[in-house]
Amino acid sequence: MIIDFHTHIGHFGRSAEHVIKHHRYYGGGKSVVLPIEPGDSTATDVLDDSWATEHALAAYDEYGDEIIPFCHVNPLALDALDQIRRYHATGKVRGFGEHKVRLAVDHPISMDIYRLCGEFGWPVLLHLQYREYNYNFEAFEAVLQACPETVFIGHATAWWANVSADAPSDYRAPDYVSYPTGPVVRVGLTDRLLEEYPNIYGDISAGSGFGALSRDREFGRDFVRRHRTKLLWATDCPCRDGEGNWGEGRQRECFAAQSLPLLRDYCESEEHFADITYRNAERVLGL
Ligand SMILES: [Zn+2]
Ligand SMILES: [Zn+2]
Repeated sequence: MIIDFHTHIGHFGRSAEHVIKHHRYYGGGKSVVLPIEPGDSTATDVLDDSWATEHALAAYDEYGDEIIPFCHVNPLALDALDQIRRYHATGKVRGFGEHKVRLAVDHPISMDIYRLCGEFGWPVLLHLQYREYNYNFEAFEAVLQACPETVFIGHATAWWANVSADAPSDYRAPDYVSYPTGPVVRVGLTDRLLEEYPNIYGDISAGSGFGALSRDREFGRDFVRRHRTKLLWATDCPCRDGEGNWGEGRQRECFAAQSLPLLRDYCESEEHFADITYRNAERVLGL
């Protein structure tokens, strides 16, 4: 049993069937399907609805409990909050995100959305990336304090670079990198937030999550041990089958084929591995 906490329909042409195939390849389980609604402030093109919420809901209708649908809205839509209320009324949705928007992480409309999700008991998955999306990571701690009822899930480059206290944050600097490598300097902001706030979790998907856990193995092992109840296994993998088929003839290593062996190595017990690969997710999702 595994729960992949970060998948997309629409990603490199991925379908619901590809999402299902992917987690079944790794022994079966469930996938959280994260829409990104098209809009001028969001990461998906305003004319591209292939990542839209409707597809996550349709996948749930077709495949049932193997699909855990989240919803997303264009936060600048005038009826953004009412759209979210309507998704809640369907009874199918389990959370909000991926909130990947060209706004400050503490933008007033996002704060309203976070609070509404807190009322619904929905986790909010944020893409945190300097310059681009929820770009002012330094404001995130105040968001956690202002929305204690809302469970947040951190993802992407700014979130994971900050496992190290020397994370590059000035994207104008000539030596700026968004995927830092090498030894981690204790204690990074992300590490401290996971330690201090019960309402923040980390999704270990993609190159950013894998990089943070693998760049300094002594740190990585210790981090995974200390945050055993706060990490969620996830892939964000574009591949269609678990075997690295990215479609249109592209073949790359599957993200799960990288992260699962690393976790196996780091986790001290089967219980520890189960926490990160599905039990923490079940708790966050209220399953
Ligand atoms: Zn994603
Ligand atoms: Zn894959």
